[in-house]
Amino acid sequence: TEFISAAELASLMNVSVNEVIAACMRMGIFASINQRLDAETIQIVALEFNYEVEFISAEEEVNFDMAEEVDAEEDLQTRAPIVTIMGHVDHGKTSLLDYIRRAKVASGEAGGITQHIGAYSVKIKEGPNKGKSITFLDTPGHEAFTAMRARGAKITDVVIIVISADDSVMPQTREAINHAQNAGVPIVFALNKIDKPNANPDKIREDLAKENILVESWGGKFQEQEVSAKSGIGVDDLLDKVLLEAELLELKANPNRNAVGTVIEASLDKGKGYVSTILVETGTLKVGDIVLAGQYFGRVRAMINDLGTRIKEAGPSIPVQILGLPGAPQAGDKFNVMESEREAREIANKREQLNREMSIRAKKHITLDEIGRRK
Ligand code: GDP
Ligand code: MG
Repeated sequence: TEFISAAELASLMNVSVNEVIAACMRMGIFASINQRLDAETIQIVALEFNYEVEFISAEEEVNFDMAEEVDAEEDLQTRAPIVTIMGHVDHGKTSLLDYIRRAKVASGEAGGITQHIGAYSVKIKEGPNKGKSITFLDTPGHEAFTAMRARGAKITDVVIIVISADDSVMPQTREAINHAQNAGVPIVFALNKIDKPNANPDKIREDLAKENILVESWGGKFQEQEVSAKSGIGVDDLLDKVLLEAELLELKANPNRNAVGTVIEASLDKGKGYVSTILVETGTLKVGDIVLAGQYFGRVRAMINDLGTRIKEAGPSIPVQILGLPGAPQAGDKFNVMESEREAREIANKREQLNREMSIRAKKHITLDEIGRRK
């Protein structure tokens, strides 16, 4: 994890240093030509130029004995798609997430009160997709997506981009489109607020066409659906379209192995201790498993799902809160179930050391810069 300068990054990507500096500036970082950039900045800037960054030395060091198990084809089973909702502010991301949660989770379940754990899972109750599930990441917005991408986490299978039909394609709409396209994630457009008298979804289709996005009803390849997050019109059709994209992706996982997945969020709860919400990508996570996440490891003491119910195990694409880690890993950190505590401790220690070294190095840069400026 050597830091490289803006100039070096530019030459690696074969673009002008001014373009790199401009990209930094858009993130609020004022970099000079020879300024060394931190890992996250490098990754986000590179993404803007369609490059994916691999920090080989760090990866090798911490994952030295965690080679990915490859699953045999016959062990794989279809898994639910993981969906992120993005879009411009006030176009209805939160309303849509809330509507889907209320309509699809709460009503059908005993108790009916859902927990905000950072993600939730819904099951289709009728129609051709009856019985299929979709997992929604509950942290809408670009920050979460960007942070996860910067950490190399690719957990989103499909992105829903919400655009208010009484407004236009806006800067954050464009940003969301860019993020999704750079990540190679299929998009379904939700033309929202269709209940409003001044809604004009055709204007949005036209706006999108100007961005080189031709929607399906106009003969293009991007699925779009008119919806109202307020009344719920169109939401079932929207979910069907998401499932259609998912089908094309042929998402599969092996539920019969040690779990691997990603941390969605983690925090310290006064009553429960450290609580991490994780998404299982493959395998099945069980109470009692030894989990290694970022620089922390511990035995899973308890698992709680999005309905607040204690569960004993969680399979692929299922979001759960876990108790038992002695700290809060970062959103986007990978987790692995380990065979032994000794092995988990070894890697956790290496990672901790690496994190410490990185922060010391970062501090040194600042100090050198400061000295330079004082001269
Ligand atoms: P976000 O910033 O994208 O999360 O947008 P919100 O979900 O907070 O919605 C912004 C505003 O639009 C709120 O006042 C919502 O009540 C309203 N809103 C969202 N969806 C709809 C809709 O489908 N119809 C109508 N009439 N209002 C909506
Ligand atoms: Mg919101």
